[in-house]
This record gives sequence, structure tokens and C-alpha cells, in this order.
Amino acid sequence: MFAALSGNLEVTRLMLEAGARTSAVNTVGRTASQMAAFVGQHAVVSLINNFFSRDDLDYYTKPQGVEKEAKLPPNLADCVHKLILMSNLNPVKIILHVQENPESQDELVTIARLLDTLCTKFMKQSETNEVMAMKVHYQGCVLREANKWLVEKNDTLQNLMKYFLKGREKDGFPVAQEKFLRLSIRSFPYHESELLQQIVHNVAPVTVGDDPTALSILVSAINGHQSAAAENQCYTCGDLQAEKKCSACKKVKYCGQACQKLHWFTHKKICATLKAEFLKEQELAEKMKQQTLEEQEGKDIQTIHVVMYN
Ligand SMILES: [Zn+2]
Ligand SMILES: [Zn+2]
Repeated sequence: MFAALSGNLEVTRLMLEAGARTSAVNTVGRTASQMAAFVGQHAVVSLINNFFSRDDLDYYTKPQGVEKEAKLPPNLADCVHKLILMSNLNPVKIILHVQENPESQDELVTIARLLDTLCTKFMKQSETNEVMAMKVHYQGCVLREANKWLVEKNDTLQNLMKYFLKGREKDGFPVAQEKFLRLSIRSFPYHESELLQQIVHNVAPVTVGDDPTALSILVSAINGHQSAAAENQCYTCGDLQAEKKCSACKKVKYCGQACQKLHWFTHKKICATLKAEFLKEQELAEKMKQQTLEEQEGKDIQTIHVVMYN
């Protein structure tokens, strides 16, 4: 609790690894995560809300009870554990993770089934964890989509990422990604879940293409509010602290060249429009600056007059 309040990430992580109960409440009935959110320690909130120990996962790599086979092949435990701890929920980021772990590609349905099992566990355990239940459910949806593209469509993960990134003509908004997110959220099997109702309540009134996106609503429900960091997000994968900009329009940011390359097929269609917008904004800002300067000079001259004639 104190580690969470002071925002000490490393200490919080060590305590979680050692088995600190994240649902334990303090004297005013608040969990460590809620208290950390209250004092603005968002990184800590995200860490606590997304924690799942390796031991808890390793349990599923051995056959249990009457099972002939374990739910999770042991060689996938690393990849799956990293997935579950990921706080970036952008579907492109999840597909990139699958791409980086080729051994997972033949077992996407197995992993998705394990995530279903975990979802049930998070909902049915004595201290319900709706946040993790929603998260693993959503990740399972992305993996099933990946399997659909690889097996049923005999297509590639590269094309699936492009499908998620393709922007509509007028403003580059990725409509398919938004629709996928909405469907995935709605397919959460526990309809009575308060978290589900809260997310749907926030998503439903928004027209597809407007802000906030279903992804940003899901992210803030799972990780706590991260609005301050959102402006530095990679346009492709959603990683934070993206520092590279498209050199032409300077309107979109990327975490690196690979993400910029992956986005270019769709960004190139609106890059020129965005560039014109950027130049207009700059021109306007320049004019405002000039105006303020002139006003300031005018005042200075008046002051001089006043000084001279007094
Ligand atoms: Zn990126
Ligand atoms: Zn551009």
C-alpha cells in the first residue's frame, strides 16, 4: 500500500511478486490501486491492475486433475506471460508480439482458450478481478482474429495489422479497428460485470470515427487514466514515448521506423492534407505572435509618450 502511494514502481513490483494481495483494503475501504489512482500514481495503478505472477501461469503448464495434457505448452509460458502483463492494448501491438514469438502462431487457439480459462478464474475467484478478466478476454479476441487470418484466410499477420490500421478516406480514422474493439468488448461473457457496463456506457454514445475511441476507453478502464501520455503515442502500435514524427506532415508520431513503414500505406493518403493543416496552424501561430508583439510595442510607445509628456 505505501509503495503504491509513493509511486515506487520497483518496490510495488517486488511486493506483488512476493504475493501482496492487490485487493486488500485499507481502513477507508480502498485498495492500493485505488489509493494510488487517488494520488495520481498512474504507472503504479497500471502495474497493480495488470499484475499476474509467473507462478500463477506456470500452474497451467502441468496437467491438472484428470487432464491428459496441460492447458499451456510450457515453451509458450514466457510469451503468454509477457502478453498478459502488457499494458499496451493496441491490437497491432498484440499482433507484433505474436509475430516476434513465432512458436505461438500454431497455438493461437490454445492460448486463447487458456485466456478464457483465466477470464473465468478472475470472475469466479473470491476476490473478483474484472479488470484482468476483461483484459485477457480482449487479448483472446485478438489472438482468435490472428488465427482466423492465418488459418481460415490463409493470409498473413502483416495484412491483419494493415486491416487494423487502414484509415478511412476523409480523415484516416481506422474504422475496422474501432469496430473490432467494440465487438470484442461486447462479447465479454459476464454481462452483469460493472466494468463491462461502465465501458459500454462510455462507448455506446460515440459515433464511430469520433473521440474517444473504444480502445482509449478500454485502456483507461484497465490501466487507469493515461490521458497525459496519450499525445506521445505511436500511431501504429500505441507504445508511449513515441518521439519520431512523419517528416512531411509533422502531425503523426511513431516509436520507430518499423512502425512508420507499416503505417505508410494508409498515412500517405492523408499526409498532404495533414501537412497543409500543419502549415496553416503554424502560420496562424506566427500571426498571433506578431500581433502580440505589435500590441506590446504599441503599449511600449504609449508608455514612452506618457513618460515624455509628464
Ligand atoms: Zn510503434
Ligand atoms: Zn505525414
